[in-house]
Amino acid sequence: MDLTPFFAKVSQCPARDAFEPEEKKMPSAAAMANWKPPKWTGGTFKDFAPEAFMADPSRPLALYVHVPFCHHHCLFCPFYINRTTAGFSREYTELLLREIEITADALKEVIDKRAVATVYFGGGTPTDLDESDLSSVITALFDHFNIPKDAEVTVEGRTTGFTASKAKAWTAAGANRFSLGVQSANTMLRQRLGRISSREELKSALDGICASGSSVIIDMLYGLPGQTREILLDDIRFISEETGIDGLDLYALKIFPGTPLDKAIQIGKMPKAPTFDDTATMFHDAYLALVNAGFEHFSPKHWRRNARERSLYNRLAGQQCDMIPFGSAAGGRLNAISLANARDIKTYRNMVEAGEKPLGHIMPSPLRPIPMGFDAVLASYAEKLALPPVALWPEDRRSEAEGLLTQWQAAGLLKDNGKEFCLTGDGYFWSQKMKGLIQRFLSEPVS
Ligand code: SF4
Repeated sequence: MDLTPFFAKVSQCPARDAFEPEEKKMPSAAAMANWKPPKWTGGTFKDFAPEAFMADPSRPLALYVHVPFCHHHCLFCPFYINRTTAGFSREYTELLLREIEITADALKEVIDKRAVATVYFGGGTPTDLDESDLSSVITALFDHFNIPKDAEVTVEGRTTGFTASKAKAWTAAGANRFSLGVQSANTMLRQRLGRISSREELKSALDGICASGSSVIIDMLYGLPGQTREILLDDIRFISEETGIDGLDLYALKIFPGTPLDKAIQIGKMPKAPTFDDTATMFHDAYLALVNAGFEHFSPKHWRRNARERSLYNRLAGQQCDMIPFGSAAGGRLNAISLANARDIKTYRNMVEAGEKPLGHIMPSPLRPIPMGFDAVLASYAEKLALPPVALWPEDRRSEAEGLLTQWQAAGLLKDNGKEFCLTGDGYFWSQKMKGLIQRFLSEPVS
């Protein structure tokens, strides 16, 4: 078999050069807008939830609370729904507390039979809630659900408006992890993107939040319009030397059509995003800088500098765990039933006030098939950021696999540690492409 179509280009910067970049396809907004869920005939939440909750108690269980309010719309963000208004915190908290009661009541016969692995407050900006309001929601979840001490309880948000006092109070109520959208620590870039605070204000906020004792994780982006390699490396120096954060998630910026950022670039109000080559070089250099600063790349997109950071919610959500949704626009699933709370805040309020679980969509949703055979082997190694050793590949493909893996190693995408082929930083950058190539390679006839 001719392996050359699967080979990577050998160069000084494999992230930039190993393969040809692929065009990214966005879901069509029109198709999404016209999508209608199939009619649900399985009754109300109270009717189906207890049985679905107990269908497979071995699956990890998460609680997801959505707070779809932000004090303004960050330019790059496709998730903005409602603007924070005076009084929103109290009003929304009352609704969440009522929804928790409604949910717990529907599940009352079974609720203690499963332990919650992780609780996640996402948004929007949950940290915009008032101190006592979010404390009361955390407490209500602990009062109604079986949440053990080692469960990961995350509050997502941003540093503006997130005081040290809030962090302390929410930690006392049961939160143990704060996940904050920082994106960049560079004042000029932050303010261009709609983040209000300067680097100095960011540092002071992070110091106060880290003092709470909860672990603190930040989101960083690369490939931002106007961001250079130097700015990104300076951000990494800043977060590693001047803050006490426990971990970070490093994402490539995706510019979604129709977002304010897309429009600002179109009309020349913002610089163009860096080219693919510049973005790849940024990732390559950022990866090395993070390793040198003592961060461990421990799961796709997640880095940590101590074992307190587990990124449990992200990992379990990716594995289709059971997830009970709370709050307007929250999504979840119970076994093979997909759940989505009403997105429109008025509909959400009306349903909660009527004593109903405020579900907008309920849909049968088959679980993804569990990978079998070599797919399962590949999936388990992917979790460890690696590829399996040749001895675990299908027997009739081993000699060709050896040739392929050796070439990828020579191209700087893999390192053989004797037990497995670990992805290098550049290998991780191309991991989706490599997965596709492996699938194609295995589907070719044996020579
Ligand atoms: S990035 Fe976060 S805070 Fe900014 S608009 Fe999006 S959800 Fe709101």
